[in-house]
Amino acid sequence: MRVLDTIPFHLDFDELKRQLHLNRKTVFSADVRKLAGLAESLIKAKAIYAVSCVNRRVGDTVEVDGVTFTSRVLRVNLDKVESVFPFIITIGRALEDEASSCNDLLRQFYLEAIGDMALRSSRQYLEKFLKRHFGLGQLSRMSPGSLKDWPITEQKPLFSLFDDVENLVGVTLTESMLMIPRKSVSGIFFPTEVMFFSCQLCPRNGCPARKAPYDETLEKEYGLHDG
Ligand code: SF4
Repeated sequence: MRVLDTIPFHLDFDELKRQLHLNRKTVFSADVRKLAGLAESLIKAKAIYAVSCVNRRVGDTVEVDGVTFTSRVLRVNLDKVESVFPFIITIGRALEDEASSCNDLLRQFYLEAIGDMALRSSRQYLEKFLKRHFGLGQLSRMSPGSLKDWPITEQKPLFSLFDDVENLVGVTLTESMLMIPRKSVSGIFFPTEVMFFSCQLCPRNGCPARKAPYDETLEKEYGLHDG
C-alpha cells in the first residue's frame, strides 16, 4: 500500500475550454483567470494504491487479496491477470467547500469543471506512475458503480483492501457508498492487451462522459446480454 500525496495539477486553459464546450478562441476574463489560480491553490490531490494478488475466480466472483468482489465483467477482465492495482484518488475538500460557500452560480460552475479536470488529471497521473514504476504496457480500469454488473455497494470491499484511508488520504465512505470529498474516484487498474472501457458495456444515451461506443457484441461476449 502506498500513498502519493503531492500529485501536481496545472490548469490547462485550452482543456478548460473543451470541458466547457467553449470556442477555442474564447478569451477568459481576468476574473476567471484569478478564480483558476485560486482553484489551483485549493486542489490537494492524493492517491492511495495497493499492489494486490488475484487469488480465486469462481462464477461471477473474483477474489483480490482475499476480498471477494461480485461482478461478471471484473471476473472476466481479471481472468488472465495475476496482479492488480486497487486505488482511491481525491482532490481534497477545499475546492468543493469554496464552491458550496459561494452564491455565484457561474463561479460554482467553473470550480466544478476545474475540480473534474483535476480529478481526471490525478487519475492519469497515477496511471502513468504505475506504468512507469512497474514497467507495464497498458492499463485499463473499472470503478464500482460504473456498471449495473459492478454496483456501487462494491465500494465497501474495495475500501477494505486499504487501512486507514481517512487518515492517509482524507476519504470516507458514507452509508450510501458515496465518497467524501465528492471529487474522489476509486477503482481497480489492471493490465490489459486490449483497452477496456466500462462505456463499451453501457447503453446510456447522450452521456457527455462517454469514452468508447456501446458495443452490444462485446456485451454478449461478457455473457451479459439477456437475448
Ligand atoms: S457511458 Fe457514461 S454513464 Fe455509461 S459508463 Fe460511460 S461514463 Fe459512465
